[in-house]
Amino acid sequence: MDLRYASTRNKEEQVSASQAILKGLANGGGLFVPTEIPALDMDWDELAKLNYQETAYAVMSKFLTDFTEEELKSCISSAYDEKFDTKEIAPIFCADGTYFLELFHGPTIAFKDMALSILPHLLITAARKNHVKNEIVILTATSGDTGKAALAGFADVKGTKIIVFYPKNGVSPIQEKQMVTQKGENTLVVGIHGNFDQAQSGVKKMFSDAGLTAELSAAGYQFSSANSINIGRLVPQIVYYVYAYARLYEQGVIAKGEKINVTVPTGNFGNILAAFYAKQMGLPIAKLLCASNENKVLYDFFSSGVYDKNRDFILTSSPSMDILISSNLERLIYRAAGEDSAKNADFMKSLASDGKYEIASEMKEKLLDFYGNYATEEETQEVIRDLYTKTKYIIDPHTAVAAGVYDKYKKETSDTSTKTLIASTASPFKFTRSVMNAIDREAYRSMTDFELVDELGKISGLAVPNAIEEIRNAEILHTSVCEPEEMERVVKEFLNIKE
Ligand SMILES: *Cc1c(COP(=O)(O)O)cnc(C)c1O
Repeated sequence: MDLRYASTRNKEEQVSASQAILKGLANGGGLFVPTEIPALDMDWDELAKLNYQETAYAVMSKFLTDFTEEELKSCISSAYDEKFDTKEIAPIFCADGTYFLELFHGPTIAFKDMALSILPHLLITAARKNHVKNEIVILTATSGDTGKAALAGFADVKGTKIIVFYPKNGVSPIQEKQMVTQKGENTLVVGIHGNFDQAQSGVKKMFSDAGLTAELSAAGYQFSSANSINIGRLVPQIVYYVYAYARLYEQGVIAKGEKINVTVPTGNFGNILAAFYAKQMGLPIAKLLCASNENKVLYDFFSSGVYDKNRDFILTSSPSMDILISSNLERLIYRAAGEDSAKNADFMKSLASDGKYEIASEMKEKLLDFYGNYATEEETQEVIRDLYTKTKYIIDPHTAVAAGVYDKYKKETSDTSTKTLIASTASPFKFTRSVMNAIDREAYRSMTDFELVDELGKISGLAVPNAIEEIRNAEILHTSVCEPEEMERVVKEFLNIKE
């Protein structure tokens, strides 16, 4: 039996995995969720023998049941190849007794590569399976890392176009340079005068606009999403949690079945939701630590049961987590609501109209797998500096937020013995300025961005990643900027659709 995917806002709307990947978003703005979470049903001695690609097949084949073995294996081998700078794809580094799962060895040196290097292949395969004739237009809002990873994945992929919107003043200089130097005839990068949430709302609005969909279709196009709401991004992210557990078991760090904590620096709630799904599949996870920066909507939600986005949007040194609407949380809410899509739809309706909703205590009790906390900017800097001083290991600000929250968790709960995996989501080279500000303020003040990159290379003893070398002297190819209200016009212009 094929696994079906249901909309979180209308349980009756069900599609296959490949259709869910193609559509991205369900009708009426819902997200597709698997109608059941498949069990891992392999033991750890078997899993410990598998390499990354084999683990990917073992996990993903359980979710993407309408893909043939040949199709899925071909997607996996095209994605996880020499684009990654290590054979392990996602290596683990132990520093100060904590296990850092390095998810930044892909082409754009952030964890988004883990899913976005495979999504284009899944999407093209899904289009072929469903006899889609239209060209696929990937429409994406990014807080920095998704944009570049999606551009890298889709550039020059036949039968696709990709349009990326990012907050003009809300990403790091290196993130911006990575995007605006993107090559590929089928790519468009646009800065908006607004924040990430406005970019994301604009994209969501276009997706659910039936009139626009019809206009696009008449011109031979259809939208799809590379955002983390696409199930084709969520499923590949489950893989590395299984893989990491198998590595820790293989290395004798943990006993078979021993529970570990997983800490995830969280923005749109995609990465941590993948860890939650891994737990549902049978991965022995004790607590899922949801780490926020000063935009601590999720911390407040886990503490009080009230999700309230009505607050100032704070620009932090972990911009990929500067988010007030964590889209993937809807999938957890749907589950906690007993898969009652009408109830979930009501919550999302009040989120859209009042910017908030409150869950009742019986729903809150279903969220006990999670622990939420946050780290301030000052704490984040301290964590980077302290870990470097102690171990010489350098982490980026997103990972540091997670490490800071793990410290708070240990103090609050006195659980210091459960082995803990921290999802390390970006290379420190992607956020050189903030990292160097934490470690060496003198250098930070006097050096240019690329001088800092070289200095970071020196003090870390690591080679400067290719992704950074590439943009050092690259030509700027994208200069468009628009207001949030103009996003639709920009899209139509790029696709040559007349008003
Ligand atoms: C996207 C991103 C995050 C947040 O991940 P979500 O899945 O959106 O919660 C954290 N760190 C980095 C570096 C990212 O790029």
